[in-house]
Amino acid sequence: MTHSKNAPKEGTDHSTEGTDHPTSASRLDAWGAAIIEELARLRQGDAPTHGGRVLSYVYDHGSDSLDALAGRAMEMARPLNGLDPLTFTSIAAMERDLLRFAVQITGGTPKKVSGSIASGGTESCLLAVGTARDLWRAEHPNDERTPRLVTTSTVHAAFQKAARIYDMAWDPVPVRPDGSVDPQDIIVRLGDDVALVVMSSPAYPTGVIDPIEQIAHHTEKRGISLHVDACFGGLILPWWQGAPKWDFRVPGVTGLGADFHKYGYAPKGVSVLLHRGRKRHRRQFFATTSWPAYPVVDPTFLGSKSASPLAAAWAVTSYLGEEGYAEGATSCQRSVNALRQAVDSIEGLTVWGHPTGPALALIADTSVPSGRWVDPHRLADDVTKAGFQIQHQPGYVQADGTILPRSVHLTITPVTEKLVPELTAALISAAHNVQGKKPHQATALGRIAGWIWKNGNRPSPSTCRFLLKFAGSHERTPQKMAPLMAIIEALPAPVAEALVTEMLAMASEP
Ligand SMILES: *Cc1c(COP(=O)(O)O)cnc(C)c1O
Repeated sequence: MTHSKNAPKEGTDHSTEGTDHPTSASRLDAWGAAIIEELARLRQGDAPTHGGRVLSYVYDHGSDSLDALAGRAMEMARPLNGLDPLTFTSIAAMERDLLRFAVQITGGTPKKVSGSIASGGTESCLLAVGTARDLWRAEHPNDERTPRLVTTSTVHAAFQKAARIYDMAWDPVPVRPDGSVDPQDIIVRLGDDVALVVMSSPAYPTGVIDPIEQIAHHTEKRGISLHVDACFGGLILPWWQGAPKWDFRVPGVTGLGADFHKYGYAPKGVSVLLHRGRKRHRRQFFATTSWPAYPVVDPTFLGSKSASPLAAAWAVTSYLGEEGYAEGATSCQRSVNALRQAVDSIEGLTVWGHPTGPALALIADTSVPSGRWVDPHRLADDVTKAGFQIQHQPGYVQADGTILPRSVHLTITPVTEKLVPELTAALISAAHNVQGKKPHQATALGRIAGWIWKNGNRPSPSTCRFLLKFAGSHERTPQKMAPLMAIIEALPAPVAEALVTEMLAMASEP
């Protein structure tokens, strides 16, 4: 499709010129309509975003009016530039409301807790790390050591990215095979080169909440920053029965992040980062008056940015209120309980560890004879036959050599509840189909590749393409994920990382 016809067509309605609020799609001319048709065709190839059949990536509250509201709010905010809330004052007003809401549900008060709206979880994680590092540097002006970032090994990968960006040493503490960490293993690492400790609430791979209270006690005594990554759970745990304290109610928690685009049920592009104390929050800002144009003050990474996700999150939280969130959480909790019971009844399969909240991971139950095991990756591939997509997670060797098992991840949302009987039946039937089947192993070529690049060098893009093709993983379909995961498990990380890089780069290459 070419994009040459920019001139307005006959019949174009100019009646909204000079206003910021075009109100409907009816003003599309014929060329615009054709382009939208093409987009609709492309969208048909997408995994479904609604209905609960994809148990990761998407967080469906199950309400059409909520979707319509979010869409309308995004459209109204579309022309704004989020760069300057002083010029576009609706942005500041919506940010105030959203921050007040986030502070309130996480046990803070607006006097004691400040924060910013970020574009997503990764951005709030990165900013939390950067802020803590800058504070540490300010407090240790003559310390030449590389500041350390202590986390559990189940922490979100965004913190590895942060350590790389901010030139810190990532120090992942191995967890027990059930995904929990021995608090003592963290406490012994709290040297004065530690700029930040991160605890998850909960961790994405396992759904387990880290021992935040125990650790906070020690970090507070030593004056070390403690960030709680509640990107996943932050907007559902406040209403989850039986959840431990994980937020600003715990003294020693210096900040937390929570994603409105997950259990806030807002469209993608909005998260919140909160800090205990204005002083800490202001460290997060980049400001300069040293250039010959407008003073630049950026609390987050971007300069010019969309205000649409903010507007949608503002509208959605206003609509749902605490009550709507509580209802969603209660529904998720019912579904989680029902699914856990169902999994308990499947021989050879079990829930990984002791999750709290709406994430579950399933692993093979190795307490039964190996001929009865259900390989979770084969299970995930098989369950696609029933129209469900659950997410493969490869096995992982921790820094101390202990192995975390391969698993599948399920994100439970309010729409899951209607599907519980169907999902349960699908899991039982898939487990029956794959029980006792050997897990996929890396192909011989995968093994040879692992040996060739043992030294950590990266294979070239063309070599990666060859390897992917040979492994049958050059095109990614859910049914083919298990063999790819086996290759990832078998290869040294730098080689596996080069392969997945190539997969994604190929997907967007013109
Ligand atoms: C999703 C998630 C993140 C990262 O968030 P994005 O919005 O995907 O950038 C960080 N931590 C946890 C625990 C998450 O679940």
